[in-house]
Amino acid sequence: MTLLLELRNVVMYYGTSKGVVKAVDGISLRLNRGEALALVGESGSGKSSLAFTIIKLLPRNVAKLGGEIFFHDEELGVVDLMKMKDDEIRQKIRWKKISMVFQASMNALNPIMRVEDQMVEPLMLHLGMSRDEAVKVAQEALYSVGLSKDVMARYPFELSGGMKQRVVIAMAIMMRPKLVILDEPTSALDVITQANIMNLLKDLKRKLGLSYILITHDIALASEIADKVGVMYAGKLVEVAPADVFYSKPRHPYSQKLIAAVPSLREEKTIEHIPGDVPSLINPPSGCRFHPRCPYAIKGKCDAEEPPRKQIEEGEVYCWLY
Ligand code: ATP
Ligand code: SF4
Ligand code: MG
Repeated sequence: MTLLLELRNVVMYYGTSKGVVKAVDGISLRLNRGEALALVGESGSGKSSLAFTIIKLLPRNVAKLGGEIFFHDEELGVVDLMKMKDDEIRQKIRWKKISMVFQASMNALNPIMRVEDQMVEPLMLHLGMSRDEAVKVAQEALYSVGLSKDVMARYPFELSGGMKQRVVIAMAIMMRPKLVILDEPTSALDVITQANIMNLLKDLKRKLGLSYILITHDIALASEIADKVGVMYAGKLVEVAPADVFYSKPRHPYSQKLIAAVPSLREEKTIEHIPGDVPSLINPPSGCRFHPRCPYAIKGKCDAEEPPRKQIEEGEVYCWLY
């Protein structure tokens, strides 16, 4: 296994009029080449914020940024993305080494601009290609996502949701990145189209040797492709485990609740819901952030001290029970 990405204690806070939002609060994580990590967790747990931190596309209201993000590359060597200047990230990393399919991005395609122009422009801009070269590369990318080159002449409003999502994926892979971050790539699609897109992603991963960080609410769908699962809760990572271990034996009480809330992974039992709300990230709970909702919380311990990372077999869990 060759290491591709290593996050060490990554922190990203937003400044708001109500206070500092601790959206990413000390995340450490490793991803190997060719590996798919599914990143799951309730809405507002900081998944997209972590993705934007990795690819360094951050809004102006960032209040704190810290930690290290090591990217291992044959061409560049080992680089810390946190230390790289914005210019360097733009020239060497973003889209070329690490690309992203944004949450709801298929709806962000410009409806009145032909697919060709939307695909070709970034290639000309970022890679300095001529229009002819760029058209060729865009056609190839469309082909690899199962679309014909006729799509180039069309406007996004002439395409189905599934086709638009394929275009967006083609745009993410056309500069031959090593890592693709996919933020809810199928959530706006019907089930059959979702399955087709997951199959496409599997196919591309195998053919192009891609690594993925797949952000999703859909734990069942993630099982289709994930080699590893990372669970986020209130800006923290609470568990990372190989997919088979995670789905059969989740360790963290929050992971157990997430699995219990998935209908298709269960037999005859009633679906559980997780009582309580995701805590505020401005004033998160003390100790373990899950303690107000945890059935196993140990008084005086879980509410007072933050659980450290604990290695269990091939996985990691942050919980005082272990
Ligand atoms: P979802 O599953 O709904 O997409 P998420 O896990 O991706 O949620 P984020 O979008 O990363 O969560 O949000 C984490 C926290 O950061 C939330 O409390 C959110 O309100 C806050 N947040 C996100 N973007 C900003 C911003 N630009 N400024 C201030 N707060 C923000
Ligand atoms: Fe529950 Fe305590 Fe474990 Fe947190 S550390 S998940 S409160 S048992
Ligand atoms: Mg999100």
